[in-house]
Amino acid sequence: MSTKTTARTSPASEALKQITHLAAALKAPRITQAAARLAEHARDAGWTHEDYLAAVLEREVAARNASGAQLRIRASGLPAGKTLEDFDFDHQPAARTPIQALASGAWLVEHRNVVLLGPPGTGKTHLAAALAVTAARQGHRVLFATASEWVTRLSEAHQRGRLDAELARLRRYPLIVVDEVGYLPFEQDAANLFFQLVSSRYEHASLILTSNLPFSSWAGVFGDQVVAAAMIDRIVHHADVIALKGASYRLRDRGIDPLPSI
Ligand code: ADP
Ligand code: MG
Repeated sequence: MSTKTTARTSPASEALKQITHLAAALKAPRITQAAARLAEHARDAGWTHEDYLAAVLEREVAARNASGAQLRIRASGLPAGKTLEDFDFDHQPAARTPIQALASGAWLVEHRNVVLLGPPGTGKTHLAAALAVTAARQGHRVLFATASEWVTRLSEAHQRGRLDAELARLRRYPLIVVDEVGYLPFEQDAANLFFQLVSSRYEHASLILTSNLPFSSWAGVFGDQVVAAAMIDRIVHHADVIALKGASYRLRDRGIDPLPSI
């Protein structure tokens, strides 16, 4: 049974006070701000109750996703400031369509890979990082390191007798980026560790690899034709291979030809 209220406060401000308490209990403080701000707009615009509730919850979810993405990006080892928004596709026109298709993130759900090939300075690292940032924004955990850094991590785990555990841990990341395959040739142990990384992710989780070398030269990197062939087989079985072309973006306005024709 309710008694007649003598309070001077309006029902709306009472309700907002209650929302503040409830939002705090839910650990969703942004609901408080959104609820007050959107209430007036909702009345003016004649929203239904459902429209209003959806709009308020949407603000909270968007804010959570954004701060989650920031956390994932900070923990990933990604270089700063490499996004699809600041990639100039006019400089790399053939990459536009395939990269834009990958931006949906569907390939991650299918555990597919992306391989970016091309000469130095053509944007391989930038695009690899940008796709990883896109994945992080879509809610996926990502890790970024060079091929040599991955090998160092794996050999440390191997020395501690924890290689399988480390590979299993890495499989829980839907995406890892392996930058600069081929800059340094691998010793046989390193090549074997790298092969295990590729095998352990095959059809379970995605990889982005970048390389300045065509697949035909990977045998030289891994020191062994058979290991290289087996690895390439697993990488490209479900992969988009994108070849970047042309002159280095770093040198684009300098009039420098890094490989002068003889
Ligand atoms: P790669 O890994 O192929 O050697 P990077 O991705 O490191 O090349 O590119 C070299 C530099 O040029 C980076 O700072 C990168 O952000 C920039 N860059 C390369 N291509 C583009 C592009 N098309 N649009 C904008 N920046 C680019
Ligand atoms: Mg690079």
